[in-house]
Amino acid sequence: MKRKGILFIISAPSGSGKTTLCTRLVESVDSLYRSISMTTRPPRPGEQDGMDYIFIEKPEFLKRQKKNEFLEWAKVFGEYYGTPKKHILHMLKRGSDVLLSIDVQGAMKIKRLKLDAVYIFILPPSLEMLRERLVNRSTDSKKAICERLNVAKKEVACSHKYDYAIINNKLELALDSLRAIIIAERCKTGRS
Ligand code: 5GP
Repeated sequence: MKRKGILFIISAPSGSGKTTLCTRLVESVDSLYRSISMTTRPPRPGEQDGMDYIFIEKPEFLKRQKKNEFLEWAKVFGEYYGTPKKHILHMLKRGSDVLLSIDVQGAMKIKRLKLDAVYIFILPPSLEMLRERLVNRSTDSKKAICERLNVAKKEVACSHKYDYAIINNKLELALDSLRAIIIAERCKTGRS
């Protein structure tokens, strides 16, 4: 039985553990490919070009945006982020499932494209815990943490627009839920 690939879209407030979850997910689920976004944000310590993101300068991003090279793009915390379109559409066409880890603005843009996609929202256990995680991460200033928490509140208020919501209280349990969603979606009769 042949089917087209499924687009899995995961959004979460900054500091919810989404990156760790997505990395563990693609490591443990067969034939699930993570799309690498392009961004104008500078790399954080330990981040690798082409692995975590494709880091590009703003004029280059805007040039690509003008040429319609992104499936979606958004400005997040003053920096541009975009999902390269060509490779993803090719993967979906050949039947591979693709995981996008993008913000709420980007997810809502993809919804408007009416692609066959599954929307998953990761919730932090509480805003207080989210604040703690952002402080412990030590990558953001006090002002940036406040800004991230304000955006987080707005993003959480959009979680009902997603097909699934998972609370990331315990990493392993959240990972189990993500795997279960992927397996169930792959088994849906309408897709084969
Ligand atoms: P960070 O700078 O912390 O890695 O990411 C900031 C936010 O941008 C996160 O919510 C992340 O999911 C989102 N993001 C990363 N890549 C993309 C993308 O290609 N498109 C959109 N819309 N958001 C992205």
